[in-house]
Amino acid sequence: MGVTIDLNAIRENKRRIETLGRPVFAVVKNNAYNLGMEPVVTTLYEEGVRHFMVTTLEEAREVRTYAPDARVLVMNPVYEWQDVQEQKLDVAIGSYDWLVAQRSQLDGVRLHLKLDVGMNRFGAKTFEEALAIVAFCQDEGLDLVGLCTHFPLADADNAEIEHSIQVERFADWSTRLIERHAFEVVHAANSAATLQADARLAHCTHVRVGIFLYGYSSVEPVEWLVPAFRWETEVIAVHQIEAGAHVGYGTGYTAPAQERIAVLSVGYGDGLMRARRHLPAHINDRAFPFISNIFMSHSFLRVDETVQVGDVVELYGNTTKIDDVTRTGHANNSEQLCARSWRVPHRFEGGNVCTPPTNQFV
Ligand SMILES: *Cc1c(COP(=O)(O)O)cnc(C)c1O
Repeated sequence: MGVTIDLNAIRENKRRIETLGRPVFAVVKNNAYNLGMEPVVTTLYEEGVRHFMVTTLEEAREVRTYAPDARVLVMNPVYEWQDVQEQKLDVAIGSYDWLVAQRSQLDGVRLHLKLDVGMNRFGAKTFEEALAIVAFCQDEGLDLVGLCTHFPLADADNAEIEHSIQVERFADWSTRLIERHAFEVVHAANSAATLQADARLAHCTHVRVGIFLYGYSSVEPVEWLVPAFRWETEVIAVHQIEAGAHVGYGTGYTAPAQERIAVLSVGYGDGLMRARRHLPAHINDRAFPFISNIFMSHSFLRVDETVQVGDVVELYGNTTKIDDVTRTGHANNSEQLCARSWRVPHRFEGGNVCTPPTNQFV
């Protein structure tokens, strides 16, 4: 009962992604997509991953605890420097102006030049800006180790042409920058772009993947991914209701006929997204539809006479995967993982997650 996170699935996904040709630069932002920073980073570290990316400095500090000698890259613009220097974190350069303003803090800090190919989040917006950043780093003797971008349209529908233009922009800028500077790591592809195996990204050293590690695909179904997440709950009450009766709060649902309903002790307060009701839940391998809405602490299924109080309900698992709900168009897969609350009991399979790591900073 509750949530089960399968660390062996994460191990297996890491291995399978790497058979595509490049080592993984693991994206573990937001508590490793809300699957748990410690177990996920510890597992990937045991599997040999030595490159991790997060969004914030706080997340990077946490990753450092579990991955003592790994590269840990902070993507957000950094303005506090003590931990970066003490814990040897890598930092992304968001713009030329940021670089110049932060110059006094940057000696010995490993820097990654980010190219903005169209997302308008961070990164050099023109080739000229990128060139100025490289020149500044060289003149100042800064440790410019990485070159990267992020493709915001890699998993968008109907944006293939625009995505291709962005890949072309990165390929063009990055190949010209590589002629001027020796970068240790070049990383661009997220999960969806990894699948495209675009020859224009042949000079990249790593794939910077998140959702694939956890076993889900934002694009077409990927048969070889192993889902890492299951969620079960149980039936806590069963009722017979009459035609015309409402169920739960409001009048949004009116029973068309006499029916048998089951009450589940799970709702959006546990992070079960309302989007989940677009597909049935399974009890003893039989599918039953959600009715009415998903409320804060409860939700409802229309069931048959086989269902009893105490029966196990599969919310996510073998029959309904995160990806299946994503394909209904009502919530994306990272969003469903991130919504889930840790107030639900959790169990980890396939890992030695209780052993405290030996914390040694590089
Ligand atoms: C989240 C993120 C990724 C990973 O994206 P997935 O689609 O989960 O593989 C890669 N790079 C950056 C900069 C990100 O923010």
